Amino acid sequence: MSPDPTDPPSTSSPIVPVLEARGLSKSFAENTVLRSVDLDLLPGRVVCLIGPSGSGKTTVLRSLNGLETPDGGTISAAGAGLEIDFSRPVTNASRNRLRDLSAMVFQQHNLFPHLTVLENVTEGPLRVQKRPRAEVLDEAHALLSRVGLAEKSGAFPAELSGGQQQRVGIVRALALRPQLLLFDEPTSALDPELVGEVLSVMKGLADEGWTMVVVTHELAFARDVADEVLFLDGGVVLERGAPSEIFTAPTEERTRRFLERLM
Ligand code: ADP
Repeated sequence: MSPDPTDPPSTSSPIVPVLEARGLSKSFAENTVLRSVDLDLLPGRVVCLIGPSGSGKTTVLRSLNGLETPDGGTISAAGAGLEIDFSRPVTNASRNRLRDLSAMVFQQHNLFPHLTVLENVTEGPLRVQKRPRAEVLDEAHALLSRVGLAEKSGAFPAELSGGQQQRVGIVRALALRPQLLLFDEPTSALDPELVGEVLSVMKGLADEGWTMVVVTHELAFARDVADEVLFLDGGVVLERGAPSEIFTAPTEERTRRFLERLM
């Protein structure tokens, strides 16, 4: 097919990264947990962070959405006109803008037990973002249908299975209309038979073009869905690359040993 002459040439619209992190470092007292971590997030890309427990994966994720403040390095989001240099004091305004870029899905779903599924999903968009009620409700119902939970909108979290609760957690994140989705081991607290339904929702989001950072021990998921895999060890990105490289021909001995234990 010949190109449509009304399409802009691709060179005239360079791809603007959703987020770029450079040289992130972080210590807790004497414990250095991140050492110069770089991470690039182009639109629609999925980056998986893997590595042993305590290697700094969660701290990277929390730094990306302002829950943790690195001691050094920068995070920029060119599309949002945001640039934060952590070697200087970070203003609340910058931190809030960084928070607004992304939504996080936690290991434990963190749903409010006293609110229904629908109320959990609409709480942020209505109370924090102050968006119009009718629009928020329509969107919430559509998102719940999409993850197979249309019938559960009036249920309370305790009435749902762990996998259903986590799917609500994902919908709650989507309802905020973030530019970036952050997942912190979203399936590690689930019974094994419930893991698949959550991973399949996440794969669907990746296929739809969401930009995602996923901390996970689910290597099959990372292999299948990630555009880039970062292996962290002792706060350092020891190795990074396409899943086909990292999983089949890791160059570092420590990556190899880590993968052998899990695969
Ligand atoms: P991972 O996600 O790879 O398991 P984390 O980022 O959770 O690793 O933790 C990295 C290191 O930072 C660990 O040694 C952990 O004990 C330490 N750490 C994380 N958060 C804190 C905190 N709030 N205070 C002190 N130490 C912390």
